[in-house]
Amino acid sequence: MTDCIFCKIISGAIPSYKVYEDAYTYAFLDISQVAKGHTLVVPKKHSQDLLETEPAVLAQVITSVQKVAQMIDATLQPDGINIVQNNRAFADQSVFHLHFHIMPRYQDDIDGFGYKWQTHSDAFDADAMTALAEQIKNA
Ligand code: 5GP
Ligand code: ZN
Repeated sequence: MTDCIFCKIISGAIPSYKVYEDAYTYAFLDISQVAKGHTLVVPKKHSQDLLETEPAVLAQVITSVQKVAQMIDATLQPDGINIVQNNRAFADQSVFHLHFHIMPRYQDDIDGFGYKWQTHSDAFDADAMTALAEQIKNA
């Protein structure tokens, strides 16, 4: 896609700090590092998000996510790793070319990494949970 920033990075039209590349995928440091080693993994074939991506392409991308996470784990030895993937602007997607964030976590994380959400274990009763599961299952 001509006006997609990640397509331009993949083609080399825009420079990047590449950490991995194969026939189907490309991985590079996020320009705004949330934590040391924060890396994006993308398919070379443009698709907007996870919901729109062909399963075969997705399989290639997630395989590369695992490979690059293992590379980061071996070299930077983080205390943990979050894999984050945003779909649509409402869910904080800002670049509309599918990407997975690999976010290494360290005990002394630089300030700003908030990855806690409020859980509501009593928000739906058993009947509501059953109906919800049925609704999704029947899609
Ligand atoms: P999103 O918010 O869509 O899940 O994540 C998009 C990410 O792309 C952001 O973390 C942002 O820092 C990163 N990003 C945006 N433009 C560029 C760029 O030109 N180069 C690199 N390396 N990262 C970018
Ligand atoms: Zn693209």
